[in-house]
Amino acid sequence: MKRSRVLAVLVGGVFCVVVMSLYRMLDLMQGAELQQHVETPDGQDLSRLQQKIDRLEQLLSDNNRLVATLRDSLLQRKAPWERGGGANVSSDSSHSPADTLRGCRLAEEMKDGADGVQLLDVYDVLPFDNRDGGAWKQGFEIRYQGNEWDEQPLELLLVPHSHNDPGWLKTFDSYYQDQTKLILNNMLLKLTEDSRRKMIWAEVSYFSKWWSDIDEQKREMVKRLVKAGQLELVTGGWVMADEANSHYFALLDQLIEGHQWIQRHLGVKPRSGWAIDPFGHSPSMTYLLKGAGLQDMVIQRVHYAVKKHFAQQRTLEFLWRQSWDSSPRSDITCHMMPFYSYDVPHTCGPNPSVCCQFDFQRLPGRRVFCPWRIPPQPITEQNVRERALLLLDQYRQKSRLFRSPVLLVPLGDDFRFVDSSEWDAQFSNYQKLFDYFDQHPELHIKARFGTLSDYFEALHRRLSTAGTSLPTLRGDFFTYADRDDHYWSGYFTSRPFYKRLDRTLESTLRATEILFSLTLAEMRRFHGDGRLVDDFPAREHFQRLMTGRRNLALFQHHDAVTGTARDPVVVDYGTRLFHSILNLRQVLQSSAHWLLLLDKSQYHHDQSKPFLQMDDVISAQDALPQKTPLTLSDEPRSLIVFNPTEQFCTSVISVGVDSPDAHVVNAETGRPMVAQISAVWAGPSQASTEAFQLDFVAELPPLSLVVYHVTKAPVGSAHRAQYTFHRRGNAPTIQAKHFQVSSPEGPEADAPLSLSNKHVQIWSSPETGLLQKLRLQSGLVRQVQVQFLWYGTRTRSNPNKSGAYLFLPGEEGAQPYSSSELPLVRVSRGPVFSDITSCFRHFTHRVRLYHLEGHAGRSLEISNMVDIRSEFNRELAMRIISDVANGNRFYSDLNSFQMQQRRTLSKLPLQANFYPMTSASFLQDAASRVSLLSAQSQAVASLKPGELEVVLDRRLQQDDNRGLGQGVTDNKLTASLYHLLLEDRRSGAQQEVGGASVEHLSLLAHLTSLSLSHPPITMVTQSNTEMPKLRPFLPLSSSLPCDVHLLNLRTLEDAQEAETPSQEVALLLHRKGFDCSSAPEPPLQCTWSAHEEVNLDDLFAPLQFGSVRQTGLTLLREDDEPESARQQQTPRITVLRPMEISAFRVEIS
Ligand SMILES: [Zn+2]
Repeated sequence: MKRSRVLAVLVGGVFCVVVMSLYRMLDLMQGAELQQHVETPDGQDLSRLQQKIDRLEQLLSDNNRLVATLRDSLLQRKAPWERGGGANVSSDSSHSPADTLRGCRLAEEMKDGADGVQLLDVYDVLPFDNRDGGAWKQGFEIRYQGNEWDEQPLELLLVPHSHNDPGWLKTFDSYYQDQTKLILNNMLLKLTEDSRRKMIWAEVSYFSKWWSDIDEQKREMVKRLVKAGQLELVTGGWVMADEANSHYFALLDQLIEGHQWIQRHLGVKPRSGWAIDPFGHSPSMTYLLKGAGLQDMVIQRVHYAVKKHFAQQRTLEFLWRQSWDSSPRSDITCHMMPFYSYDVPHTCGPNPSVCCQFDFQRLPGRRVFCPWRIPPQPITEQNVRERALLLLDQYRQKSRLFRSPVLLVPLGDDFRFVDSSEWDAQFSNYQKLFDYFDQHPELHIKARFGTLSDYFEALHRRLSTAGTSLPTLRGDFFTYADRDDHYWSGYFTSRPFYKRLDRTLESTLRATEILFSLTLAEMRRFHGDGRLVDDFPAREHFQRLMTGRRNLALFQHHDAVTGTARDPVVVDYGTRLFHSILNLRQVLQSSAHWLLLLDKSQYHHDQSKPFLQMDDVISAQDALPQKTPLTLSDEPRSLIVFNPTEQFCTSVISVGVDSPDAHVVNAETGRPMVAQISAVWAGPSQASTEAFQLDFVAELPPLSLVVYHVTKAPVGSAHRAQYTFHRRGNAPTIQAKHFQVSSPEGPEADAPLSLSNKHVQIWSSPETGLLQKLRLQSGLVRQVQVQFLWYGTRTRSNPNKSGAYLFLPGEEGAQPYSSSELPLVRVSRGPVFSDITSCFRHFTHRVRLYHLEGHAGRSLEISNMVDIRSEFNRELAMRIISDVANGNRFYSDLNSFQMQQRRTLSKLPLQANFYPMTSASFLQDAASRVSLLSAQSQAVASLKPGELEVVLDRRLQQDDNRGLGQGVTDNKLTASLYHLLLEDRRSGAQQEVGGASVEHLSLLAHLTSLSLSHPPITMVTQSNTEMPKLRPFLPLSSSLPCDVHLLNLRTLEDAQEAETPSQEVALLLHRKGFDCSSAPEPPLQCTWSAHEEVNLDDLFAPLQFGSVRQTGLTLLREDDEPESARQQQTPRITVLRPMEISAFRVEIS
């Protein structure tokens, strides 16, 4: 019988069973109904019957979904390691490249009502002419009649705030000691003095530190203030996160950390978002905020020309919608501050010289003053009328920019409200003004101190009374400019060493979270009574996890991952990241130790003598990891490989060894693994004689720990890489004792270098080794050239130069990288991989092809090792030049969560056309797509059709006048890693040149990116130890569908006992949207489904969930689904919508 016929019969069978059981159920219930009829009165009877009918309808719909899901699971083929055979069967036998991929998201144009705004279109029409607007320099003159508020008085909410950076000019701890502690201490006193006073606070990192310093009595006072609505925690993240460089894993994790803290200690949940200082804004952040239960938010740093346009259109308040969302589900009400800054001079109204007079911290004799040279005056009986009217005029002008008569006016600045006298100055003077307004109803203004939620409550009330609705907006707010052509695209790359370290901690943290949660679940199952293993330091490990979470969270701050802090602060952050990685590795090692032991009674924890170690060492916060060479002998040495991804993957594992002869087998099956020995290069043409690199192909089931044995092999029995060296001019002196080496001469030396595997062939220049051309197995050939470039900055006469924030390149633009000497080019060929390495003076560039069957064989791995410490005011970029006809459109990701279309505009300066890239970028035409996937964040641009470039490092000698007070000169030897993917597209796939407004990565690109971000983790057993018997740990019987990403499996803190793991685990799943136009050939090994419903138990079989509660993204208990919904029995069908993240609190049993 054909596969589809079998399927039809099976589905039909299941359907019959379901229908019959439903019928039987109805029958039984009717019986019960008849019996009840005798006993109960009529009214109740009817409502009960109604309930039962409802229940039956519910059952029927559940069963429909069950049938759909069963049909899907029948379509799923078994995992390759279950089948034994190697046949490559598609997930859907009817699937061919010509068909639309099942379940893919069509890149259709999303339509909004007449009031919808698409930021891409706004950019197309704006002139960016930077006209002088008068008092409001970047805006325009605002007029009003004066009678606009006669019917509806102006309702003013003055929102006191203090912006506390968790590290910038000082470290987190120094700021806390010098300022933040005092601010919060005074907050407690000054808010308690007068119940009309209010305050908002954003950074939970600081708040929680202060909390641990204060006594119980003060804590009670804080709780009272929160309950009374005088103090509001806004956003509730650990930090006010950067939105350009941060990955959505870390963005969400810092939000979870903050929200969990707030719920635990204050018993509330944040309602409004407050992001006044991040340098540009991303809809990925708003998605997370909405998912965490927030309804409203405020943003500030938006391009001045966009602000002006929005002010003219009165669209500064809008419903921010996800580009890909065709429903209003993701909408969040957003208020954009209209003026230049969040300080007092730029928040009361359009004229800063007037507003500054109402910052009473600038009263004569105090610390700060007004640069407009008109100082504030204390409010007295004599001047109150004149002062009140002056301020009211500003309020009224500002109000004309909005659609409602409610006005938000922040009152604060960086590290404000330190002294108690500052509190008195601000609150008492403003209270006098408010009292005056109250006594003069003819002014038609009601003013009071408020929190952010007070403001939004008033706003929504007024909007609904007036029947006014806000426009919807799609898009993002990059790249930010605060004035002139000062675009903040420098920080997309600044301090790239730490941007990469950030992602190393992130992947280590995720892997540790998952393995730790699985370990605790296994331990509880092992004992059968819920106990953990006595000797296992679960509490200490959980504390290590918490510290790791909090250090990663801290680094998402908008002066941390951005690379915009002072040098000593950068070292402080680096040290935190570094220590967290080391501590998390301990958790990984001892979790893996217990899981792997066949005889669990042999488990013994000794921190000074760990059973497992990592295969590499990181020696300092500013050092790259170094492989530790394993000492090999005839006795097998155990290697443990953890696959932190939810996909079965074929990966190349690379370890250091002390011998050029090594043999690797799978410890369980004894099967030898394909392996290759390569040289470890001490210099470009000097191989180490003591250390070698062993690479082997590992087959790793999802989330598994697999054991391999490495032994010393007979001399010459291992496959060694073969090398050829190319250099124009003087031939290199090559020292590579154990390897076959050649140096072509004559015509042979002029031929292009070429490498190929089953999927792709590449050609590179024999002079530079740099890529020139690519050919796919399908026959598609594309020119894809790699180039390196320098950017300089503006010349001596121009005072504005590039710095940590700003990218201000010189007039000449990019200059091709050239060095006096041509590079040494080293080509290596072997059974596991082949590569071409170009050794230039400032960088080593390597392109590698893996000889693998799976997705890893379909892309090119590109790695760069950059060192520009010898340079002066220069930035190094890598450019890819293709013949893809993408017009001026390309795509870059936002926080690795979604792709955003970019349009390169000639009316904007070069630096404005650079965008943040967290993990992916692509350009496409009707025939093909070139994607660049990255393991770190950096700036990306496509300055000409077919081009894509990323900035690798920047060294800048001067400050760029944004308060940092220094350049960026702490450069290090910096690594960057990419995968370059060329894909065929089905013809007619595209209507618009360059692509539609919503496009996604292909499934192949998603999988490639997953492997790049979450590589396998290798551990080794101590040598010379009496080896206990180990067995692999295989928690899942099959891969997750390839569009479902296990974002995290995060053990939650015990509700009663602090810093102790509970039985509850946060299960976070992200279902990705994927592109329809490229169907990989041969098909991918994983499956996907067209249905939104999935069966959680099937997904994670054989893991069993004792309970499953769907909740908001930050796992707050208040956000739990209602009792009735979670009583659901197995099978647990849940809806995972494409593009969306779903959160569950589960107990793994
Ligand atoms: Zn800040």
